[in-house]
This record gives sequence, C-alpha cells and structure tokens, in this order.
Amino acid sequence: MNNKIGLEEHYAIPDVLEGSSSFFRRDNKGDIDISTRLLDLLDHRLNDMDANGIQITILSLTSPGIQGIFRPIEAADTARRANDRLAETVEKRSDRFFGFAALPMQDPEAAILEMRRAVLELGMVGVLVNGYSQIGSEDNSVYLDDPMYRPFWAELEKLDVSFYLHPRSPMPENARLLADQPWFHGAAWAFGVETATHALRLMSSGLFDDFPGLKFLLGHLGEGLPFVIWRTDHFLQKRKLGIPAKRLMIDYMNDNFWFTTSGMFHTPSLIQTMIEMSSDRVLFATDYPYENMSDASEWFDVCTISNVDKFKIGRQNAIDLFKLKI
Ligand code: ZN
Repeated sequence: MNNKIGLEEHYAIPDVLEGSSSFFRRDNKGDIDISTRLLDLLDHRLNDMDANGIQITILSLTSPGIQGIFRPIEAADTARRANDRLAETVEKRSDRFFGFAALPMQDPEAAILEMRRAVLELGMVGVLVNGYSQIGSEDNSVYLDDPMYRPFWAELEKLDVSFYLHPRSPMPENARLLADQPWFHGAAWAFGVETATHALRLMSSGLFDDFPGLKFLLGHLGEGLPFVIWRTDHFLQKRKLGIPAKRLMIDYMNDNFWFTTSGMFHTPSLIQTMIEMSSDRVLFATDYPYENMSDASEWFDVCTISNVDKFKIGRQNAIDLFKLKI
C-alpha cells in the first residue's frame, strides 16, 4: 500500500541518546546503525519511507527520553530543545513529517506550558510520553494517574490532541521477576507488561470519567490489552476493592484508546485487535528505527484484511485522529 502514515517513528537529540543505549546492544550488526538512524531526521529516514510506501511519519522522541531526566529544570530544558529540533525538521519537510511533543512530566505546570507551546506555536499534532517519570532522584518514579497530573489532563482535553503512552523499561524493583532473565527485558516482554499496567492504572483511576474527551494511543496493538481485558473486567466485577472507575476497563479501551501496529507485524493479532476495537481505532506504525520499516510494510501491505480496512488503518484513521491537513 502506498501513501501510508506511520505513527511510532522515533528520533533522538544527542542529550537523550545515552538513555536509550541499552536498546542498541544487540547480537547483530545493528548497533551503530540504530543511533545514527535516531539522530538522522532526513536522509536515511526519507529513503526508507520512500522504499516502503510511507508518505508521512509522525515523529517522536525516543524512550525514555525526557522521562528519564530526573532533575525537573533539566527535563523542561531538554524537552524544549527536542521540540524545537523536531519543529525545524517538520517545517523543512512539511510534506513528509508531523511531530509529537516531548514533555517534562516531572513538573506538571512546566508540562502544560510546553504542551501549549508545542501544539499552539510549533504545530505539534499530539503528545508522546514514555511511561512513568523519574522525579527528583533516580529511584522516584511517578505514574500518570497521580493526582498532581489532573490539571494537565484538563488542559490536554481542552487542546483536543492525542496522548501516546509509549513504553519504557520498568524500574529495577518492578522488574525483579525478570532480573536473571535479561532476554525478556525491553520489547521482548517487559515493555508490554509495564505499559499495559500503566494504561490500566489510568483507566481504573477514574481519569476517563472526569475527562471523557481524552484520546490515548498505545503501540504494539495495545500492549496485549485486547487479549486479556475481558478477564480483568470479569474479576473486577466480582472484587471491586474500592476501584474508583465507574465503568468497565473495556469501555474506556473502546472509547478513549486507539492502538497502533508498531512492532506487531502479525495478522491474527491485528484481526483480534480490530474485533475488539473496530478498524476505526487501529493505525499503522513501525517503531523505527528499533524495527525496520520494511518488516512493517512488507507484512502490512499483503496482510489478509479487506482493502477498506487496510486504507483506514494505513492512512485514513491517522488523518482523522490528528486532523492532518494533507
Ligand atoms: Zn517505540
């Protein structure tokens, strides 16, 4: 399929590259290549897009990015510089790129200010945050259901832009189960569990009862949620244990979430997600440069779904959700 739009396509500025370096350690020859491709916003990236029928990508800062900078002032400063760098690129090639704002969630007021600047002045079409933020010290992690973020959610709902909740590695104390099996760290398993749990925390907190207009994206076909959420609701109905949310988790998933295909190039998983969410709420993405655009596109272009669904997932849903003027 030509003219696809990709939604989970990462870049880096030098300041945040070191934080992502554990993802470069692979057994193949891709090490230098991934960091080069993260820093490259034009040449290799545009060649890859052209070769794979991807007209547009919505770029986002790599993980953990700003969320791993525990000094709030440094986090805010780095977010501003990343967003400025991204805006320059989008301006240069407005026919090929849009941007997600990176935000310093270490300080909710600073996050609101930067979100307003990025959306209203720089033209970012959404926000992407890499999970929990470390605040004040390396071992203090704060999740987004914390009450201090309520004013941020109010502002996000008012601006009417989407929020991409992207994975990062769990804190070491939350990853003890996998401590002696490093092969399950990162994308193989830990990212999905961490991010699905974070999404459930938000759903169960009552956030979407208070702000029903919030629009969230999850990558990797919903980090497993479409496949397990029925059982979660089944038991939450039997044992409420003081849960603040007024509705079932699946209701929030269907009303407030959109899922992308990043890193999940598997047709049965896509079809299951379409059954749970409808094809209006699934969008094409690759997870470049941690995944190859060619793996994503060669799978998607021939996967056995109808052409109508393919067009929606590959392109139209992104135009509608992000109100892209193309
Ligand atoms: Zn990603």
